[in-house]
Amino acid sequence: MTNIQDIFISGLRNAHAMENQALSIMRPQVGRIEHYPEVAAQLEKHIKETESQIQRLEQILDEAGESKSGLKDLALSLTGTMASLGHTVAPDEIIKNSLANFAFENFEIAAYKSLISLADPAGHASAQLLLKANLAEEQAMAKWLDDNIATVTLQYAALRESGEKAKR
Ligand code: MG
Ligand code: FE
Repeated sequence: MTNIQDIFISGLRNAHAMENQALSIMRPQVGRIEHYPEVAAQLEKHIKETESQIQRLEQILDEAGESKSGLKDLALSLTGTMASLGHTVAPDEIIKNSLANFAFENFEIAAYKSLISLADPAGHASAQLLLKANLAEEQAMAKWLDDNIATVTLQYAALRESGEKAKR
């Protein structure tokens, strides 16, 4: 294997681990939400997309002759830090999680841009379409979070003002 192929395969494995981590961040969040149905619906949507993203990555790894069983999915230190932020249980967890999710989506965007740049030189040009599909979903999710951070913050503030006990 050439160095560039090696870098590409490592990147795919890291992306696979990243996506599994994304699921482990979003699933508990959506289970805890009580007062933010739009956020819950968007998370549900992105959880389904993320499941497809994992399948696309496995398809690329498969076509590159890499076995799925070798995927250890060790957490990356940076995403690990963001993951711990994303599991926050605090009165303002909806805000903290929104910030952490925005950071995570932007990490994912960078990861896919890196992989897309490697696909052709690594001899896997056919992977580009699948990687671009993942990238587009991350960009859409990042945009949704960007567009909604102010609304969610003010919804939280209004719930606190109204004396609502469970603000999540
Ligand atoms: Mg993703
Ligand atoms: Fe994502």
